[in-house]
Amino acid sequence: MKGMLFVMSGPSGAGKTTIVKAVLSELEGVEFSVSYTTRPRREDEVDGVDYFFVDEKTFKSLIEKGEFLEWAEVHGNLYGTSKNFVESCLNNGINMLLDVDVKGALNIKKIFKDGVFIFVAPPSFKELKDRLVKRHTEDPNNLEKRIEDAKFELSQISKFDYLIVNTDISASVKQLESIIISEQLKISRFGEFVGKYNFYKSKDGVDL
Ligand code: 5GP
Repeated sequence: MKGMLFVMSGPSGAGKTTIVKAVLSELEGVEFSVSYTTRPRREDEVDGVDYFFVDEKTFKSLIEKGEFLEWAEVHGNLYGTSKNFVESCLNNGINMLLDVDVKGALNIKKIFKDGVFIFVAPPSFKELKDRLVKRHTEDPNNLEKRIEDAKFELSQISKFDYLIVNTDISASVKQLESIIISEQLKISRFGEFVGKYNFYKSKDGVDL
């Protein structure tokens, strides 16, 4: 059976990366898709683990070679998802978890109709701004851009399948795990297993 695609999205500062990392360390059978980006690496980030950090020229050549499943300019930098990695994992039955911006998620939705799209929202816009300011990862210009971009991103919630309002990290982690587990337990995922129990014949000929 093919793997399932789970796409996490939401505004910068909502906490999706923290939730994703916690879930990946606890749930088996789910692989993270490491994106490519032109954004400078933050101090605590590792190349090849958090992102593949590349310059703009390399990124553009990857676009030309058709290496991306989707790519987008997000808050002034380029980000892209490796097509080959995601598709080969899915074909080998591995479930994939992606952390992409809202435009990227909506583009993926056009290609993967049976993907599961999860939006992570902050409890309030004020809380989002406070979190972005407190984490000190962006310069003032980029910080402003992230806050402005969040207005569009939050307006797209209704296009997603699930909403996690991230008030408490451990509750949000449980919610994402529940989504991933429940989606895998849908009858439609079981294929032949369900078919092998189809030996019951109604004695009175009544269709059940
Ligand atoms: P950050 O710079 O804070 O790591 O990420 C900024 C935004 O880019 C986040 O919303 C993140 O989800 C998004 N992002 C990360 N990787 C990708 C990707 O491959 N494609 C798209 N479209 N967005 C991405």
